[in-house]
Amino acid sequence: MNVEHLRQRFPDEQSCRRFFETVLWPDGPVCPHCHGQKSWRIDGESARDGLLECATCRQQFTVTTKTPFHATKLTLWMWIQAMYSLVNSSKGVSSVYVANWLGVSQKTAWRMLHVLRLLMATYQHSIPKLSGIVELDEKYIGGKPRYQHGVKHKRGRGTAKSCVATAVQRQGPVKAAPVVNDSLKQIKPFVEQRVSSQAHLMTDEHSVYRLLAPGFADHQAVSHGKKEFARGPVHNNTAESFHATLERALQGVYHYMSKLHLSLYTTEAAFRWNQRRPVEKTLTRGHNKGQNRIVMERLPLLDQFANLLRYATGTQLRRSSNGGINILPNPLPLFGL
Ligand SMILES: [Zn+2]
Repeated sequence: MNVEHLRQRFPDEQSCRRFFETVLWPDGPVCPHCHGQKSWRIDGESARDGLLECATCRQQFTVTTKTPFHATKLTLWMWIQAMYSLVNSSKGVSSVYVANWLGVSQKTAWRMLHVLRLLMATYQHSIPKLSGIVELDEKYIGGKPRYQHGVKHKRGRGTAKSCVATAVQRQGPVKAAPVVNDSLKQIKPFVEQRVSSQAHLMTDEHSVYRLLAPGFADHQAVSHGKKEFARGPVHNNTAESFHATLERALQGVYHYMSKLHLSLYTTEAAFRWNQRRPVEKTLTRGHNKGQNRIVMERLPLLDQFANLLRYATGTQLRRSSNGGINILPNPLPLFGL
């Protein structure tokens, strides 16, 4: 779907609002004040579009009340365009780009993207524990380049780089987050919180995985040190491939990244990764023509928007006195942010 198609699908503010209502209220309007499910629309010249009144508590609300999209001067169409730019790019998008596109300040664009990343974090949190074959890996990211002004910088542990831990279900979702380092103390709780004890783990030879493996159904490892990268189905190439995606995003768009924000950018890469589903396809070209393969296909754009919006209720923003947006303390668990 290109921008032209997007505008056709959302020709006006009302069509944007209807979309938000469909996603946030799949079973009809819910009062954000008392959770009452009986309400009526307030029509008439002076009423704001989408205004409802709750039959239980008699308070008024719209679909954006108590969401980050409420009480800002930004239109829903602007939010839809911001979602489009964030979700549709393969490597992420900068606030400068979004600011120019929407005609808002860079600060506002940065905050909009930040809100959308918070929603992505909530989405990742909602994915059940990974099961089946689950690949684990960790990677040191960021910091100084390996070679700079003729100086070779140390890599990995003990450097200024940040460690990202990743668990990915084969042909399924990924869960990833920054950890302090790749010690057992850090990696074990990361894995236990995100992976079912029934899972079959696949890792490299890093000793922490051997030490945490007894808590899981099975564990197989390949020895990268011995140049072994796959032994039949035993590999953690999918997890490494996610790290490569993350690294490319960091190099291409986010030239500087604080450790604080690494968490949200990792979440963003994970969200993008998770907007795909396995589809069986018959190969039409090459040596294996006619054979069936499972390929990962991106979800339709509007389904991706829905995944992003679904968790917006309970996350709030307010306009600040200087006209910007403030992100209020979020009641949802957002990994220490
Ligand atoms: Zn109510």
